[in-house]
Amino acid sequence: MSTSDNDEPSPDDKAPLWIYVKKIEKQARGGSWRFECKFCSKTYVGSHSRVVTHLLQEGVKGIKRCLQVTPQQRDRMKKLVNDCKERIKRAAPKTVPLPSSSKKAYESSLDYDMSYKVPNVSESDSKKRKWMSTPLKKVFNNEAREQCDGEVARMFYTSGLPFNLARNPHYRKSYVRASHILGYVPPGYNALRTTLLQKERKNIETHLQPLKDSWKHKVVSICSDGWSYPQRRPIFNLIAANESGPMMLREVNTQGETKSGEMIAEMIIECIKEAGHENVVQVVTDNASNCVKAGALISAKFPTILWTPCVVHTLNLALKSICTPVHNQRSNEDVYDACYWIKSVSEDVTWIKNFIMNHGMRLVMFTEHCDLQLLTIASTSPKWDDYKEDGVERASAVKKKILDEMLWDELEYDLSFTLPIYSVIRAAD
Ligand SMILES: [Zn+2]
Repeated sequence: MSTSDNDEPSPDDKAPLWIYVKKIEKQARGGSWRFECKFCSKTYVGSHSRVVTHLLQEGVKGIKRCLQVTPQQRDRMKKLVNDCKERIKRAAPKTVPLPSSSKKAYESSLDYDMSYKVPNVSESDSKKRKWMSTPLKKVFNNEAREQCDGEVARMFYTSGLPFNLARNPHYRKSYVRASHILGYVPPGYNALRTTLLQKERKNIETHLQPLKDSWKHKVVSICSDGWSYPQRRPIFNLIAANESGPMMLREVNTQGETKSGEMIAEMIIECIKEAGHENVVQVVTDNASNCVKAGALISAKFPTILWTPCVVHTLNLALKSICTPVHNQRSNEDVYDACYWIKSVSEDVTWIKNFIMNHGMRLVMFTEHCDLQLLTIASTSPKWDDYKEDGVERASAVKKKILDEMLWDELEYDLSFTLPIYSVIRAAD
């Protein structure tokens, strides 16, 4: 705003002439203001249409015309009003006909718009059935079906709804239900975000009550973990679990906050209080240092509650130090000596994997032979010879590597002890 202080304020397309008067005081009623005309300096009360009447002498009555506006100024203002009207008209959404296979339906859909009326079917059932069986009705029905499909599809496209929504069982069920209620209109924006949401929340809470009741006699663990949304928003979730089942207690968006031990402890303690501290036997977190600290803080406050580091995370760390051992730690020397060779095997495998996945043609070769072994492709695929993409040398290096028996022996040996750990992680996760 400050940059255009010297210019005339840009007019609002819907009420452009406000810029020629000074708004003094908002009136309680609608869009009315007490305003002062910038030409004649007289004060009036009214909405934009009164301003138009005062300045242009057109429209509603009930206000004196301005005597200070020159004909040239009036013409300019009239042009402004017309330009604005034109702009609004252009900006209005255009009605695009729904796609249709038959020419006739296409024509009839040209005047199709959002105010489409649900056909008023008041005829008796027997009459309807008779009408249904006529060929004309069949055609009409097919067209209506096609139009309905098009409308549903367009709802997805224009709102950017994920196609996965079509797999949501409630999606299909809602339409089936709607088709049984004549004249049904789906809930609007406000109902969805207020009454219906509250109703569903209450409903879920009622259904979770038995689970909550089980915490008293079966005790409960509180598990927490941090993860990221696809949009990289950090989320910290807290779950209460016992043999009756898990229940999500909280999901906290921790964007822009440092997840200190104190902060995590605070979130967990809140949940402990909610579940009743006498019912909670343990708190499970991962092994990050802030969580270790949070665990210590909680154990200090509630001596009866155990802190347990997460099994999955522990095993993950174990796998990581096996597969990518680091030499810089002294305590790690034994591990490094025993496992350094795995690092090079894993690097080779990653390299081959990237080589295959990163380029279309290689991936085609791979998927064509996916149920056979990589080995077969390496030795027999004639496509290696037509390989004209970038990095022919890399291609032959990959081929050599895949045919290298040492690699496969090492891989087999490596998997013999990492696979069990991996399956425990998958089972526990
Ligand atoms: Zn005036």
